[in-house]
Amino acid sequence: MHSAMSSQQQQIPLRILIDKPNNKVVAVESTKDFVDTLFSFLCLPLATIIRLLTKRHEQQQQPPPSILGSITNLYHSVENLTPNDVWNTVCKDMLLCPRNPCESLCSKLLFNVDDTKPTPKVLVCNSCNKFTTFPTLDCVCGKRMEHVPGDLDLERKGKNGNNNNTNVNVDAAKTGVFVKENGSLFLVFDDLTVVPSSLVTSMDMMLQLGYSDLTHLEEYTCDIGKDEKKDNPPNPSASAIGVKVASADTKMEVKIVQSKSQNKVLFAESTEDFVDFMFSLLAIPLGSVIKLLNGNSLIGCVDNLYKSVESLHSSWCTESRFVLLNPGIVPQFGCLNQPLNIPDVEPTYYYGTGIYEKDNHYGRKGVPRSGGVISKSDHDIVSVKRLTALDPRSPNRSKEDGTGFVKRPALYAVGDDLRVRPLSADSCLYYLKDLNLPLDDLEVKVISISEAAALSLLGASLTSKQTLTTGLKDFLDVPRQELDLASKYTQTSQLDLLKHEPNPEP
Ligand SMILES: [Zn+2]
Repeated sequence: MHSAMSSQQQQIPLRILIDKPNNKVVAVESTKDFVDTLFSFLCLPLATIIRLLTKRHEQQQQPPPSILGSITNLYHSVENLTPNDVWNTVCKDMLLCPRNPCESLCSKLLFNVDDTKPTPKVLVCNSCNKFTTFPTLDCVCGKRMEHVPGDLDLERKGKNGNNNNTNVNVDAAKTGVFVKENGSLFLVFDDLTVVPSSLVTSMDMMLQLGYSDLTHLEEYTCDIGKDEKKDNPPNPSASAIGVKVASADTKMEVKIVQSKSQNKVLFAESTEDFVDFMFSLLAIPLGSVIKLLNGNSLIGCVDNLYKSVESLHSSWCTESRFVLLNPGIVPQFGCLNQPLNIPDVEPTYYYGTGIYEKDNHYGRKGVPRSGGVISKSDHDIVSVKRLTALDPRSPNRSKEDGTGFVKRPALYAVGDDLRVRPLSADSCLYYLKDLNLPLDDLEVKVISISEAAALSLLGASLTSKQTLTTGLKDFLDVPRQELDLASKYTQTSQLDLLKHEPNPEP
């Protein structure tokens, strides 16, 4: 199915319209492959975008990109977490290299920018009815997960070029991934607005952009190719977009430390839940970020890209287009205790010893398979059992203990620029010394992070270098609260100690 597209010579032709006097690109005319790649940006998790941009800048020996607000600091804070801070290395990997919720769709792109490793095969523990897609995990029973059953969904997808068990799959080779292959061209404007190329739309857009005289415009043609085509196998576990809304009454309290003289937030002291929530922003795909922020992410021009996906007439798009508008987080990569309503699904597989096949005498008969089979649907499976997913983010892989990326209980300082540091007694004093501010200039407020505050933080993490000050400014003007020493912090806050012991011994 992919053979037609995996040739190294594949290139995407571009016709670029340049405004010579002003030295800028007005528009690019290209095929659906170019538009498919542009649209696929919306399914990239924020961590992937940061990783790709950083890599590109390193290759060009430039300093790291600074265009993405403070969220890059959040990314680097995860990089700096030690094995003491997280349950295992999988937790860090999940945040630094979150999977693409549209992995199998993007693997069909002529030019896929996402270099995230494809999801490995599903591993099963028969005795515990557990499965995982993280290859280095031990099961709850202590055994290494190693058993790889046959994947019925993959087999059928291979056979039909289509899979009825996932809601967003079409035969992209024939119809296009997000936009339809019908030989037409698209116009991509400098602000990432995408429209089908037609005489009327071109004239209209040109007039809107103020180009009534087209003589200044010059046309160039070029091809963009790809360095390599990664022929990723389609991913059976991604792209399932269901909606399980996170509990809206999640209460997450943080202590905000402000400088009275500078009128800004210096840092927030919080427990693991807030830090897990902030870290989990890295796994949200761009499309879902824009959806959460109601189309106003203010990140470059991507809001226009999002609007173009939304407003393209359905005759130009495949059904998969809709997934771009809210790709959701890949199952298991989200944060359980968080105030945002991000689509999240509990992954499930069915396991059996064989499959039922059509039989002329008996209607159907069970055909055993060595190693067993798994599928997302329980149809056609002999002695079917339901498998639940191992959660890597807990001490013993079971959900009951509460899960999260970082170990708990723990205290963290989250800087205004989203640099996150675990707080031990030593580093807390160091932290305060680092701030180099008189303690009587500091003011502590305890706030509860509501959905509105969480959204404001998400937006500010992408556009501001002072994320806490910008993101929380509307939420700090509540009447001043006394610092609650008997708060539900599981560990005594170092701030509380400092307040009461002016000269504490480290
Ligand atoms: Zn087991």
